[in-house]
Amino acid sequence: MLSVTGLYHCCLCLSSSSLLSLLQIQNKLNKALDDMSASMCTLKNGMSYTKQLPSKGLSQSQVLDKIKEYKTLNEVQWEKGCVLGIVYWGDKTLTKLLVEVYGDFAWSNPLHPDIFPGVRKMEAEIVRMTCTLFHGGANSCGTVTSGGTESILMACKAYRDMAYERGVKFPEILAPVSVHVAFDKAAHYFGMKLVHIPLDKRTMKVDVKAMKRAISKNTAMLVCSAPQFPYGIIDPIEEVAKLAVRYNLPLHVDACLGGFLIVFMDKAGYPLAPFDFRVKGVTSISADTHKYGYAPKGSSVILYSDKKYRQYQYFVAPDWQGGIYASPSVAGSRPGGIIAACWASMVYIGENGYVDATRKIISTTRKIKTEIQKIEGVFVFGDPEVSVVAIGSDVFDIFRLSNALMSKGWNLNHQQFPSSIHICCTVLHTQPGVADQFIRDVRE
Ligand SMILES: *Cc1c(COP(=O)(O)O)cnc(C)c1O
Repeated sequence: MLSVTGLYHCCLCLSSSSLLSLLQIQNKLNKALDDMSASMCTLKNGMSYTKQLPSKGLSQSQVLDKIKEYKTLNEVQWEKGCVLGIVYWGDKTLTKLLVEVYGDFAWSNPLHPDIFPGVRKMEAEIVRMTCTLFHGGANSCGTVTSGGTESILMACKAYRDMAYERGVKFPEILAPVSVHVAFDKAAHYFGMKLVHIPLDKRTMKVDVKAMKRAISKNTAMLVCSAPQFPYGIIDPIEEVAKLAVRYNLPLHVDACLGGFLIVFMDKAGYPLAPFDFRVKGVTSISADTHKYGYAPKGSSVILYSDKKYRQYQYFVAPDWQGGIYASPSVAGSRPGGIIAACWASMVYIGENGYVDATRKIISTTRKIKTEIQKIEGVFVFGDPEVSVVAIGSDVFDIFRLSNALMSKGWNLNHQQFPSSIHICCTVLHTQPGVADQFIRDVRE
């Protein structure tokens, strides 16, 4: 991710230079790409690689020995909390439970609910528990997907098809410029146009007036984030929802990142403005169980306020030679083991566990925010309320700060337009001393 951002910066400075010929620009781009693949490639020369199947299968102990080698390829010690984001918990007792549960359902596949009714029931329960957290009514519903990207793809696909039905030929997604890149992917995959709405520069929330001006007969959906990835800010959902109601448009709230924090913040003592199905006009919500839901990677939930929206997500092929085929989301076969492990995380942690984790994470983030705001030469973007704090500077190149922090073992996210770095607090950073060390290192 670091290198990709670096590449974009390179493109930016090139395009602003009128002296370079196109050829020189292409050469520089090629070089940037080479540098990028060299620095991204963690596969080093000199390692031995498995390039074909062993002619005779390995013994179990041989496999386990080999696995140890792969595990020691990690250069970053995420367990200690120096990676900001990425691993959301990693608790050892939870890991043990998840491995056992995964084992019990390793061979199951919800594509065949008749054969695996247990997985089907767990999936339905994950959806219902999540609907309840987001105050969905009796008609609310949803599906479990493979991750936030798939949840977002599904909502966009559903609203595209609704727009098609209305006779719209070129459906548009109106989303804040800070919205997750999965919406770009959805637009790319589904032949939609993503219209980026600017942010209020002071609050970093979407400019609602600009959103209103962008609404046209081609608009298929409106989007808000709760919170967005770059600055950790929640968009003005109630105001955008009023537009959605007035213009009869669906509104998707992307709570992929912080969904499993914001629903517990009230009980953790950090109340927020309403962001979920309590707000009239919010028609769908994406929330990642594999982030702050503390489930293993490969699971997320897409929720709808009403079944009438979800039906547009489904795919049915009645005349396939292989038989009538229906599937709810992008995947065909799906990993029942991951669904079981997700279900187990949720019921093992329970409301008390989530509220505790949320309280710790939010108090740690607030402390980091307040302390960073006191440091001369840097500033915090907007007033982040959840777990992300983005740092910028008007007086020096902020990436020099992240390089300095990297040399102290911290791994931060690099962002662009404007240049900033962000930290994303997880349970790992609530360990004693971690936040204090981070603040000391930034100050230094
Ligand atoms: C992580 C994230 C997503 C989806 O990401 P996946 O990597 O596909 O799970 C969507 N929106 C936001 C704001 C995110 O942070």
